[in-house]
Amino acid sequence: MSFGGADLHCHSIRSDGLDTPARLVERALEARLSALALSDHDAVHGLPELEAAARGTGLIPVAGVELSTRSDDEDVHLLGLFVDPTEPRLLARLAEMRTARDRRGEAMVERLREAGIDLDLEAIRTTVGGGAFGRPHVARALMQKGVVATFDEAFDRWLSRGRPGYVPKPKWSLPDAIGAVRGAGGLAVLAHPIWYDDPPALVAAGLSEGLDGVEVGHPDQDGAQEEAFAGLAREAGLLVTAGSDYHGPPQGGKTVGGRRLPEEGWLRLVEAARRRRASCGLPAPDFSPR
Ligand code: AMP
Ligand code: FE
Ligand code: FE
Ligand code: ZN
Repeated sequence: MSFGGADLHCHSIRSDGLDTPARLVERALEARLSALALSDHDAVHGLPELEAAARGTGLIPVAGVELSTRSDDEDVHLLGLFVDPTEPRLLARLAEMRTARDRRGEAMVERLREAGIDLDLEAIRTTVGGGAFGRPHVARALMQKGVVATFDEAFDRWLSRGRPGYVPKPKWSLPDAIGAVRGAGGLAVLAHPIWYDDPPALVAAGLSEGLDGVEVGHPDQDGAQEEAFAGLAREAGLLVTAGSDYHGPPQGGKTVGGRRLPEEGWLRLVEAARRRRASCGLPAPDFSPR
C-alpha cells in the first residue's frame, strides 16, 4: 500500500485535546494517514491507548510529547518524537510538570473568582482526568458557564497573558527539554516556528543544544512560511516534520491529517530515530504498521 503521510502533532484528552487517543486513530484512518503521532502537552500516558487502538488497523502509531519551554522570555514549544514513553527520567520530569500545572489551574480559578467568575474547580479537574491541566480546560468551562461565546474569546478576554485569569506556567528551559527528549531516545523538534519572534535565531540556539528538526508543516504556517522554514532546516542540516496540532473542536479549523509529512521525510525521521535509540542503548521503536 502506498504511504499516506504522517501527521506528527496531535493532542488528546490526556492533555488539552477533546478526543480520546482511540478517536484520533479513527480520524487518522478516515484521513488515510499511514502514521500518527500523539504529542500531548507534558504527558505520555495516552500512548498505550494509541498503541492499543492502532492494533489491527495498519496505522503506525508514533510516541510523542510536547514540552513548553522558556527561551529568552518567549514560550517555545518542543516536540519530542519517537520517545521511549517508559524512560524514567522523562517520566519523573513530566509528573513534576503536571503537578505544577495542577497548582496553576487552581490559581487560575482563584484569579477568575476574584474577578467575579465562579467556576467549579472539581468539575474542571474531572475533565482534566489526571492529564495535563491547561488553559483550554478553563476556556471550555468559561464557555459552558456562558461567560464567553467562543473558545478564542475565553483567551482574548480572560486567559491570555495580561488578562485577569492569566497565571504563568512553570516551564522547562529549552536545553533541558531537548536533553530530556534525547535522553528518552527521541528526536527534538521545534514546534510551529511561526509562533516565535525570530525563528532563525531560535533554530541556531536549538542547534547548539542538540535540536534535531523543525516543524515545517503546521496549520498556522502558510505556503511561503513553510518554504522559508524548510530552507532554514536545510541550511542547518535539520530534519523536517509536519503535523496538524489537532485538539478537537472547537479549536479552529484544524483536522487530523490537515498537515502531513510525505514518505521521503518520514523515512529520514525513521533513520534518525533508529540512530538516536542505538546511541542511547535503547531498543529501536516499532515502525511497522499495526
Ligand atoms: P497552556 O499550556 O495551559 O498555557 O495552554 C496552551 C494551549 O492553549 C495551547 O496549546 C493552545 O491549545 C491553546 N491556546 C493558547 N493561546 C490561545 C489563543 N489565543 N486562542 C486559542 N487557543 C489558545
Ligand atoms: Fe494545546
Ligand atoms: Fe504547541
Ligand atoms: Zn500542540
